Amino acid sequence: MRRTFASLLLLVSLLSFVSLTTSQDTQKPAASRAAIPAPEDVLGFVPGDDRKLASWKQIVEYFQRLDDSSDRVKFETLGQTSMNKPFVMATISSPANLAKLDEYKQIQAQLADPRKLGAPAVRDKKAAELIARGKTIVLITCGIHSTEVGSYLSSTLIAHRLASSNEPEIQSILDNTIVLLVPSLNPDGVDIVKDWYDKTLNTPFEGTDPPELYHKYTGHDNNRDWYAFTQVETQLTVDKIHNVWHPQIVHDIHQQGAFGSRLFLPPYMAPVEPNVPRQIVEGYTQLGDWMAGEMRAKGFEGITNNSTYDAWSPSRAYSHYHAGVRMLSETASARIASPMTLKFEELRSREGYDPQKESPNFGPVWRGGEWKLRDITNTMTTAAFLLLKHSAEYRVQWLRRFYAIGRDAVRPRRAGELFGFTIEPAATNCSDMLTQILQRGGVEITNLPDGKKFIRMDQPYGAFAKALLEVQKYPNLRDAEGHPIAPYDVTAHTLSLLMNAVVTPVKAPFKPAAPKAVATKPADTKSTALPNPCPAPTSNVPALYRAAMPAYDEGWTRWLFENLSFMYRPLTENELRRGITTFQLGPGVTGKYYTILFPDQPPRNIFEGYRAGMMPNELTGGLGEEGVKQLRAFIVQGGTVVFLNRASEFAIDQLKLPLRNVVGGLPRTDFYVPGSILRLELDTTNPLAAGMPKETIAWAENSPVFEVVENPGGDVPAANVRVVGRYPQDKDPLLSGWLLGGDRIKGKAALVEVTMGKGRVILFGFRPQYRAQSLATYPLLFNALRANP
Ligand SMILES: [Zn+2]
Repeated sequence: MRRTFASLLLLVSLLSFVSLTTSQDTQKPAASRAAIPAPEDVLGFVPGDDRKLASWKQIVEYFQRLDDSSDRVKFETLGQTSMNKPFVMATISSPANLAKLDEYKQIQAQLADPRKLGAPAVRDKKAAELIARGKTIVLITCGIHSTEVGSYLSSTLIAHRLASSNEPEIQSILDNTIVLLVPSLNPDGVDIVKDWYDKTLNTPFEGTDPPELYHKYTGHDNNRDWYAFTQVETQLTVDKIHNVWHPQIVHDIHQQGAFGSRLFLPPYMAPVEPNVPRQIVEGYTQLGDWMAGEMRAKGFEGITNNSTYDAWSPSRAYSHYHAGVRMLSETASARIASPMTLKFEELRSREGYDPQKESPNFGPVWRGGEWKLRDITNTMTTAAFLLLKHSAEYRVQWLRRFYAIGRDAVRPRRAGELFGFTIEPAATNCSDMLTQILQRGGVEITNLPDGKKFIRMDQPYGAFAKALLEVQKYPNLRDAEGHPIAPYDVTAHTLSLLMNAVVTPVKAPFKPAAPKAVATKPADTKSTALPNPCPAPTSNVPALYRAAMPAYDEGWTRWLFENLSFMYRPLTENELRRGITTFQLGPGVTGKYYTILFPDQPPRNIFEGYRAGMMPNELTGGLGEEGVKQLRAFIVQGGTVVFLNRASEFAIDQLKLPLRNVVGGLPRTDFYVPGSILRLELDTTNPLAAGMPKETIAWAENSPVFEVVENPGGDVPAANVRVVGRYPQDKDPLLSGWLLGGDRIKGKAALVEVTMGKGRVILFGFRPQYRAQSLATYPLLFNALRANP
């Protein structure tokens, strides 16, 4: 097997490191290497070996054995995952530090909230004493995205070196830091990916992504849940790690696509969300620049920063609002655990750099060649130890910065400054998800005598609340050619709009009337995101369409239904293609579907699915012509089919509806809505809008916008279309986020109902249950599913 010169060098240095530590360890029985297992002793291979993945059971066993054999490692199970696997964390530090973990937690709690240090005049002096004694708390999170297999494997290499080495550099890390290591933020996905990888090994499909979501409900969106806290893995991480330890540094280890840079490190590209403290930006810039410089000095190539990844959405960065820097790293992927060879010409530009050209934020150029799992684990472990080295050497600086963020946060607000917000949740909401979110994020809430809630800004996490309660004005960023620069995720996160609460900013000075009680208790771990109104049980059990190609929105919808105990049945692409629209209700009893829901996904994924040769035959072909024929028959015989967002385009094209997507095919310079909250007007006389106000919101994200057209080539006349929701004719449609070309959609339709034969089609030009956050529009979806023709 061919090896690159660089990986040979790394291998040689690794071997010399092993012999060095062995000779040192013989003098230190406390960390006796003989007793401490190497990853290969438990896994049966060296992490990073080609075509070898570990199961979650093996990873847990390895960490358990480290705990058994090393006095530097404390391993614990924090809870159970969505699929009932252990969710775990290792705490790694010197034995002396591990003996005093409660004391260090206390120091962190006081520095995080300087009000706990006493009167303002004495706080700085007390803080200086705590900073002298404290440790840098570093949380390392791996494997949230399970096809990015390098990091959970690297977690064993990182833990092993910390547990077994007596190099001065490691000793310094153990003395000065407390490392909280989460081998995977998504343990379920470890096995989903390994099972598929092993099953397809040595077949034409080796190295493909599994044909199912690698998180039970959210797939890749599990890393978009860091303010809504809907999933148990997010809740465990926030409740049992972040809120207990308040880490100064969170190293979140990811992989990116194979064809860009070999490694991304912070700083992030613009924009930075305005509520992220300037000290956070300084921190990730300083550390990222230093790490990149050290990596380059060690011979690593193809490193970029200040590109591709921005710091806008709190959905990816809990720590940025909780006084800790998020140090994202993104290493280039291979084909899961299989090597690949890339030609230089195949390397592709991403936002902010060109991997074929050296530039101030990219270099030195990587010339292409073989790229394999060992390159990935070497990159990850090198970066992680550099980060830990900085955390240890600049311990005092990290703690001072952490305290400074807290001190700024609790500073009394001056006259004219924003003092806080009052919140009035919609009286008809049957859950208070907004309050639960804020409480879980550490926000203190005062209940006012008039029933409103009050959130003051002068508290440690006031900025977290502010980010979620105010409107986002996403900057109009353009590249050199004038094209809009895409946000890395979405542009809006205004929960007050999504969750239908009236929020009023209050300027200082403000003295709220005597509060009834101060609520500081953390929320229940079980989320109760109930819509307004709560869906009533119904005899009509809708089918939830499930394509062979997994769709995040299908998973979110499933999560929502299960969380609300709303009955549904999955209906697979294969079943629908075969005309199956009934289900087994009980022994010998067959139920019939009246309603089928198509979640948001690209129309092509529905119609074509996996192309032939991409995946095993039984998974290819999509719904195809046969499926469309069956779907049409289901509708004309009296069924209702509901399409969400992009899936609506499939319906317009394939069912030949008398509608046109007025923004279809437009360049971004003409129309662009990359995840924003728009204003929607409803025809409340239509049963689909029952119980809704005349004006509500629409979560628009690469969304179609409808116009009724005559004679589209099908047999449904334009008179069969009823517009239930439309964007306002005379107001700016944008409420929060970013919208280009808003004039084009004024007065156009976003929710329509089309009768067809005895049945009907309902098209949403938005996502009514967006990531389980848009409570305001849940009733529209449930009305569509419930209405029994
Ligand atoms: Zn990732």
